[in-house]
Amino acid sequence: MSNTSTTTSTITSTTERIPVLIIGGSLVGLSAALFLAWRGIRPVVIEKHTASSPHPRAIGFTERTLEFYRAVGIADRIPQVPPGTRLRRVRATSLTGDWHGESDWTPGQDGAHAVASPCTGAALAQDRLEPILRTAAAAHGAELRLGVEMLAFEQLDDGVPVDVRDRATQQIHRVMADYVIAADGADSAIRETLGIARRGVGHLRTLRSLLFRCPEADPVLAKGIQQFNIEQPDLRAFLTTYGDGRWVLMFDDTEAYRAADPHELVHKALGSPFAVEMLAAGRWEMAGRIAERYRAGRIFLAGDAAHQLPPTRGGFGANTGIDDTWNLAWKLAWVLQGHSSSRLLDTYDAERQPIGWLRHQQTFARPDYARWAGDALQGETLYANEAMELGQLHRSFSVIGAGAELPPAASPAEWAGQPGTRAPHVWIQRDGQRLSTLDLFAHELVLLTGDGRWTDAARTAAARLPLPFKAVRVGSDVTFPADVPFDECFGVSSGGAVLIRPDGIIAWRSVDFPVNAAAVLEDALRTVGACPA
Ligand SMILES: Cc1cc2nc3c(=O)[nH]c(=O)nc-3n(C[C@H](O)[C@H](O)[C@H](O)COP(=O)(O)OP(=O)(O)OC[C@H]3O[C@@H](n4cnc5c(N)ncnc54)[C@H](O)[C@@H]3O)c2cc1C
Repeated sequence: MSNTSTTTSTITSTTERIPVLIIGGSLVGLSAALFLAWRGIRPVVIEKHTASSPHPRAIGFTERTLEFYRAVGIADRIPQVPPGTRLRRVRATSLTGDWHGESDWTPGQDGAHAVASPCTGAALAQDRLEPILRTAAAAHGAELRLGVEMLAFEQLDDGVPVDVRDRATQQIHRVMADYVIAADGADSAIRETLGIARRGVGHLRTLRSLLFRCPEADPVLAKGIQQFNIEQPDLRAFLTTYGDGRWVLMFDDTEAYRAADPHELVHKALGSPFAVEMLAAGRWEMAGRIAERYRAGRIFLAGDAAHQLPPTRGGFGANTGIDDTWNLAWKLAWVLQGHSSSRLLDTYDAERQPIGWLRHQQTFARPDYARWAGDALQGETLYANEAMELGQLHRSFSVIGAGAELPPAASPAEWAGQPGTRAPHVWIQRDGQRLSTLDLFAHELVLLTGDGRWTDAARTAAARLPLPFKAVRVGSDVTFPADVPFDECFGVSSGGAVLIRPDGIIAWRSVDFPVNAAAVLEDALRTVGACPA
């Protein structure tokens, strides 16, 4: 066993067998638990703390993240922002002083984009979102063990034995997991024990942060700016709000600031001796590091364990990790449920690691962080916010036709049904009800077509394969609006068809109707779903 802790405690002899053990019960581990449980797998999550950190970090959740939460039925518990909302940042002498130099996250591209998602994103502090995820994951059958930590693990051919300790009782027992998701954060002991290296710009700064309430400061937000780079001769800091009455001030972890009175620092940043209630203090590392691989045997890295990125206005931190687990959950479920061979799991690293790296490069090519990358990323193409959020390309054997010549990201309208990208969102009708195209993709591979000959081909293929699969006929099962026709959106002719995976990624398309449609479709299904031989 590889030990990640040296403390000794009482060891019980029972070994419990579970399908998926998730180590780390923060945003990413909890999202993994929810997505897996919703797909019919009962994972166990262990989290060494008994509650969310009193000092929240993330607040910005993107349209794509909300699309996942919408799919699993919790989007209505998460208040969404008005369409077109974006985080605005200025340089300021203080909150109540002079403001100047508003800067864009993506210069020239921060304007509102077309309505490409049924969701608008959310601004909700991490410690408010995590309880929603915990409740939903448990309701779907995930088991959450709080106050329990991973001590040691081993990789065997038939599973991953993991020693876990209940921190209250000090009891240790062994869990045998078919698969493990390491969502144990940027300092991941699992990643380190596995010897998985990371690359990137590395350490940038160590910061301290002060979380506080200040009702007299809240009215300033009515001006529409949420982020302030405070620039004073003796205070360089970043001030922002969680939008729920809580503010946070961040500054370098230097001797001078450590010696300073926290109230005094906050008052300097506010530019006024407003009444302040101090809530919590934190210390964290700002860094850019991406794991060279996201998988070792039966263990998968997800979230900050796989990619440590600084907080950005693009939401490349937690959102990237939540997207990792959306990608992984259906694959683990299909392998565990016997629909797919374990080869399908190879596509997780193939699809997600390049996206982590792209997000690293895009972070340090943007003005907010460019100075940390030196000249290395000067001239790097900046992909638009919409492209980064809704149009990243996934490449693996489970996607047919995503060639190396394609860019790593583009808007859904530009992609127009390109395999490897998220299926475009369109408001459509089914049985007189309005729904998003995205609502069609949940637990099966879906063949979307306007041509009835494909539905016959689909019946033949389905009879020969063990995969959850269905055909949806445009024009009879669902109707597209006249001004957004199916074939235009998905880049096919009237005889074409598009195959979409349970994670909403387009896996394959046939622009026209081929002579041997049933055989062509069967081949595509076998490949995409990694059918057991
Ligand atoms: C100031 C700040 C603001 C941010 N804002 C945003 C934002 O607006 N949007 C965004 O997308 N991202 C944001 N981020 C990034 C975001 O907070 C992280 O990406 C996210 O928290 C990562 O989640 P995670 O679950 O992967 O890891 P973590 O949140 O680090 O969680 C890891 C968990 O694993 C547990 N753990 C570790 N080891 C063990 C063990 N041996 N046994 C059991 N449990 C263990 C830990 O206790 C912890 O709860 C921000 C980060 C910072 C610092």
